[in-house]
Amino acid sequence: MALAGLVLLVVLAAFLIERFDVASADHEQAIVQRGIVEQGKALDAVVATQVDWDTAIEKLDNKFDPAWADFNLGNYLFTFNGFSHVFVIDDGGLPFYAAVQGERADLGQFTPFQPVVDRLALRIRAAESSRGAFKPRPGKNNILIPPIQSNAFARVGGQIYVVTATLVQPDFGKKLPKGPRAPITIAAKPIDGVMLKAFADRYLLAAPRLMKPETQSPERQHVVLHAIDRTPLAALSWIPAKPGTLLREKIQVPLLIGVLLLVLLAMSVVRRGATMVQELIASEQRSKHLAYHDLLTQLPNRAMLFEQLRALLAARQPGGVPLAVICVDLDRFKEVNDTLGHHAGDLLIQAVAARLRTACPEAALIARLGGDEFVILHEVTDITVLDVLPSRVLATVSERVGTEYGWLEVGCSLGIAVIDNPRVEPSQALRWADIALYRSKESGRNCVTLFEPEMDEALRSRLSLESDLRHAVQDGSLHMVYQPQVDRSGTITGVEALLRWDHPQRGPVPPGLFVPLAEETGVILALGEFVLRRVFNETHGWQQARVAINISAVQLRAPGFAALVMRLAAEAGIDPARYEFELTETALLGSDPQIAANVDALKRLGFSIALGDFGTGYTSLSVLQRFAVDRIKIDRSFVSALDNADESAALVDSMLKLARAMNLSVIAEGVETEAQKERLVLCGCRDFQGHLTGMPLPADQTAQLLGEAVPPRRKVRQRG
Ligand code: C2E
Ligand code: MG
Repeated sequence: MALAGLVLLVVLAAFLIERFDVASADHEQAIVQRGIVEQGKALDAVVATQVDWDTAIEKLDNKFDPAWADFNLGNYLFTFNGFSHVFVIDDGGLPFYAAVQGERADLGQFTPFQPVVDRLALRIRAAESSRGAFKPRPGKNNILIPPIQSNAFARVGGQIYVVTATLVQPDFGKKLPKGPRAPITIAAKPIDGVMLKAFADRYLLAAPRLMKPETQSPERQHVVLHAIDRTPLAALSWIPAKPGTLLREKIQVPLLIGVLLLVLLAMSVVRRGATMVQELIASEQRSKHLAYHDLLTQLPNRAMLFEQLRALLAARQPGGVPLAVICVDLDRFKEVNDTLGHHAGDLLIQAVAARLRTACPEAALIARLGGDEFVILHEVTDITVLDVLPSRVLATVSERVGTEYGWLEVGCSLGIAVIDNPRVEPSQALRWADIALYRSKESGRNCVTLFEPEMDEALRSRLSLESDLRHAVQDGSLHMVYQPQVDRSGTITGVEALLRWDHPQRGPVPPGLFVPLAEETGVILALGEFVLRRVFNETHGWQQARVAINISAVQLRAPGFAALVMRLAAEAGIDPARYEFELTETALLGSDPQIAANVDALKRLGFSIALGDFGTGYTSLSVLQRFAVDRIKIDRSFVSALDNADESAALVDSMLKLARAMNLSVIAEGVETEAQKERLVLCGCRDFQGHLTGMPLPADQTAQLLGEAVPPRRKVRQRG
């Protein structure tokens, strides 16, 4: 646009310059035309002074005086005004005086001038007739009589002349012409170089020249001189001033520089504009990239995933190529984040992202949903893809990663939903893959699960169970039962408090189902507090039996747990020495300082500690010592194995030896048969718990069994 503007400007300037020249030429033309007329009048005036004179009437009309004519006309007009030819003609139009170049000449010199003079004379005579005869004007002799004159251009003998004819007249009327017609003086002046130069000097014309009228040249300007009969005689030509051109020549260089600068400016503006546009496009692309990509890994993000997933799902056809939606979740990523910090976690995520890229085919879309969750979308063109791809992902991600924090190791769990139905929504597809992933996590991590429709149902019921559980703490559907623990003689030495949930619709829900659920969802804290309150409340009056209470690892990790126990114990007025907290091996395995702090505090309060599920985990002796465990419980699995394998007996035997060596008491769990009990006795076991020795019973029945007083149920206060 700027360039177009510039071109327009230049064209406009050129047009104006051209117009300027044309206007100036028109002006010069008019001036020269006027100048020619003026020039004729000036010549007329010169002659008029010589013949508009009483003396001229006297010397040329009344009585011709040739000597007077020589001096005042022929010689005078030639010498002072350059008239080369002077004639005086009579009333019949014939010459009676002739002078050439200031000298009297033969009257025959008049002949070539005759044609033009005849026509001029006609005009003069006409004017003379209309003026009328002179009358003496006594007393008014000082009034000048205006001259009667006419001039014309004429070519005589190849030379152009200005020929002027003037009637001889009295000026003051002292002498009057004798007849009705006075003589006429003819004076002819050649238009020669001298005259042209004088004319050009006066009107500032360059290189004046008289040319033939037909030879006009384009670079010169012309005014045509006509003869008295209007035929073109010659052309007065000169080189026009052309001020526009002159101006252009003068401003040409600065103008060119200006235009050049403008062009440069326009170019830089255009270039700047172009880069600005490019920057704008780039920044738009950047923000688009940001909107659709994860900052940490540069992988597509949730928004992009949903967009692509929607398009890919819509393109499915029942029975056609299905789409695999694979959810990948890192195992134990939280541990890395918690122990080494977020930067280590970020490095790990980046490494995993890079590995996923190498593990997946080019055509697969890999997105990061956030945290340690990734999703892979891939078309299942070949059923083997579902075997090969997940195992490759598992293998690559599980390889340890070298970082500035040392070698980091994580595994991952995969959940896959395979979809060929175009009506499935992206959120639905992801949910299915997520359900399968959840299954993988449940079944020990580092494995792959393919989504089955039943899983959805299971999950649904799990979710409703979860919400019911939150209410169960308040709605009275929870209660405690107590399972006796007996010695060899069958005397009840203690009880284990076990939680029961009678779901209003589903009926009894086994703790093996709802306790892990409560642990995962955090409801276990409220549930645990309920158990403590309820057990303390129901058993505070018992004198003999020791009461064992199960404590979850989640409770032990809570910072205020020991303080809570202390408060509840004080409220119920129980004696801590009669209570035992059953912890699981896995709870004591980690190096969480909070667990150690809670266990220590509980010990200091006087509670004893039992380790449940003993033998199933990796409990080291150091753990037993560090937490000052009082008692171990041999797991039910070992007890039931006693029925058919000798190694089990050997194992149980060694556990008992270890316990004795460490001065720990031992109780066997899940004793169901006499045979089991006998074998245990043989190994040196003294305490037993199981269906054989006593089923879990409600508090009042247990109290009766124990011969203890059944305390009146206090109103149970619950938090929240
Ligand atoms: P656990 O601590 O191992 O509890 C003993 C489990 O063995 C109880 O199952 C009990 O009913 C069962 N049992 C006792 N004798 C026998 C037997 O001879 N044969 C068989 N097959 N089973 C026997 P229950 O009540 O279903 O509890 C399951 C688990 O739920 C408990 O295992 C414990 O880990 C947890 N739990 C129960 N109540 C509580 C609680 O109040 N708090 C916490 N944190 N966990 C609890
Ligand atoms: Mg237990």
